[in-house]
Amino acid sequence: MRHVIGNWKMNGGEALLREFASGLPGECPWPDVRLGLAVPAPLLGAAVRMLPDWVRVGAQNVHWEEAGAFTGEISPALLREVGCRFAIAGHSERRALFGEDDAAAVRRLSGALRSGLTGILCVGESRREREAGRAEDVVERQLRGLADAGEPLDLETGAEALIAYEPVWAIGSGEAARPDQIAAMHEHIGRLSLRFFGTVLPVLYGGSVSGDNAAEIFALNSAAGALVGSASLDVRGLINIASEASRIA
Ligand code: PEP
Repeated sequence: MRHVIGNWKMNGGEALLREFASGLPGECPWPDVRLGLAVPAPLLGAAVRMLPDWVRVGAQNVHWEEAGAFTGEISPALLREVGCRFAIAGHSERRALFGEDDAAAVRRLSGALRSGLTGILCVGESRREREAGRAEDVVERQLRGLADAGEPLDLETGAEALIAYEPVWAIGSGEAARPDQIAAMHEHIGRLSLRFFGTVLPVLYGGSVSGDNAAEIFALNSAAGALVGSASLDVRGLINIASEASRIA
């Protein structure tokens, strides 16, 4: 099973949702691919209503508490109530632009999982960290945060934890990481997740994935799917990527 997850970031509106919905088949054409779309919070309800049921709607961020004095945050309970099925935690834009640290990312992931949402934890190094030869250490630190949080990866609720390896330098750059770089980091994450959590968590790749490079990314055995930003704003772009994910199963 592969996951192809679109992330609209702070883009889109009901008109785009309508266009998107009209470009999707009523039934899922790929039995081995799960398609998801993370839209801005005000669009979540409309996305659940307008998109076919086989498309999983998700949130771009989530809080760890179910309710409380946390102005501007969104609780996992509310996400469930509007019909969300997954939430992203620790996206590099949250980390770089809004000061979210490893601990917050981990708490957010745990909040999603506790509530029965699929949680996607984003990890990845900056260009400077890669050039300094620290990419593997940075990703280890980000995952260790999850291991050290003392909150078990509560997968017994039926929730699912996915890791998205998203090198910051590849996001929005138009140039994905090379397959050998992706494969090496996926292997590293696989080893770490076995050591920290006793299980190999599925690892997606994100960073300028498009219809043009999806085939070589999915040709990597290690790629359990893709997190797709700009190419997901066009329904045909996301369909092409999902078709490649299914073709190269
Ligand atoms: C992202 O937003 O997570 C992302 C990978 O963006 P892009 O595909 O545009 O690089």
